Amino acid sequence: MTAQIIDGRAVAATLLGTIARDTAHFTETHGRRPCLAAVLVGDDPASHTYVRMKRTRCAEVGMDSRYIELPTTTTTASLVAEISVLSADPTVDGILLQHPVPDHIDERAAFESIAPGKDVDGVTMHSFAAMAFGGTGFHSCTPGGILRLLDAYDVPLAGRRAVVVGRSPILGKPVGMLLLARDATVTYCHSRTRDVADHVRDADIVVAAVGRPELIRGEWIKEGAVVMDAGYNPGNVGDVEYAGAAERARLITPVPGGVGPMKIAVLLEQTLAAAQSAHSG
Ligand code: NAP
Repeated sequence: MTAQIIDGRAVAATLLGTIARDTAHFTETHGRRPCLAAVLVGDDPASHTYVRMKRTRCAEVGMDSRYIELPTTTTTASLVAEISVLSADPTVDGILLQHPVPDHIDERAAFESIAPGKDVDGVTMHSFAAMAFGGTGFHSCTPGGILRLLDAYDVPLAGRRAVVVGRSPILGKPVGMLLLARDATVTYCHSRTRDVADHVRDADIVVAAVGRPELIRGEWIKEGAVVMDAGYNPGNVGDVEYAGAAERARLITPVPGGVGPMKIAVLLEQTLAAAQSAHSG
C-alpha cells in the first residue's frame, strides 16, 4: 500500500478562507477587527520567525495583531503583569505567549495569567480541563489541528486504537484527550515506555509528538494505519521515518506541510471565536 498524503496546507487554506469571510462579517457588525496579542520574551530567532508568521496570517484574514516584545531579563512577575494588562484590555481578544520562555521564568505562572476567555492557544489549566472534560474552552492549537485534519479526511475514531508518542502538556497529552473524547482507545508512550514499537504496531492511528528525528520506524506502522507526524526537527525531518511509513500507512502527514500549517489556522479560528463571544454577552 502507498499512503495517501494528508495535505495540511490545503486543509488550512480552506479553514483560513472561512475565517477571513467570518472575520469580515464580524468587523462589519461590530466596527472593529478581532485582535490577537503575541508576547515574546527573549531573542530566540525561531520564536521571532513564528510570531512574524502568525502576525502575517492575522493580517491576511483581516485581524489586528499586537506585538509585545520583552527582553530576556524579564522576570516572571513583570511578564505576569504584562499579560494581566492584556487579559483586562477589552480591545484584545486573544493572547499568545510564544513558547519557550527563558529558563528563569515560571512558564506555568505566565500561562495562568492569560484570561481563560482569551486563551486562544489553549495553554491554561482551564483550557486543559475543558479538553479533558469536553467542556467549553479552547483547544491547544496543534492537537486541535490534528483532530481537524483527521476529520477532513473522514478518519473514523470511535473504537479505534490510537497511540500517541509523547506526553507534553501542549501536544501529546491534549491530543490524546481529544482522541479519547471522540471515543478512540488511547495509549500514551513516553521516554519511560518499554517497547514503543509494540504499541505502535497495534495502532490504527499513530500520533508522533516527540521531537526526535525518525524515532518511529516505518516498519512499526501497521498496514492501513493513519500516521499524524507533529514532529518538526532540523532539516525538515519528522518524528516518523516517512518513506518506510508511507509504504504501509493508508494516510500520512508529510513534514513540512502536514500538521504544521493547521496550528496557525486553529489559533486564528479561536481568536475569532473569542472575539465573537466577547460580544455575545
Ligand atoms: P517535549 O515537550 O520535548 O515532549 C517530548 C515528549 O516525547 C515527552 O513526553 C517525552 O517523554 C517523549 N519522548 C522523548 N524521548 C522519547 C522516546 N525515546 N520514546 C518515546 N517518547 C519519548 O516536545 P513537544 O513540545 O511536545 O514537541 C514534540 C515535537 O513536536 C517537536 O518536534 C516539536 O517541534 C513538535 N511540535 C510541532 C508543532 C506543530 O505545530 N507541528 C507544535 C508543537 C510542537 P517524557 O515525558 O517521558 O520526557
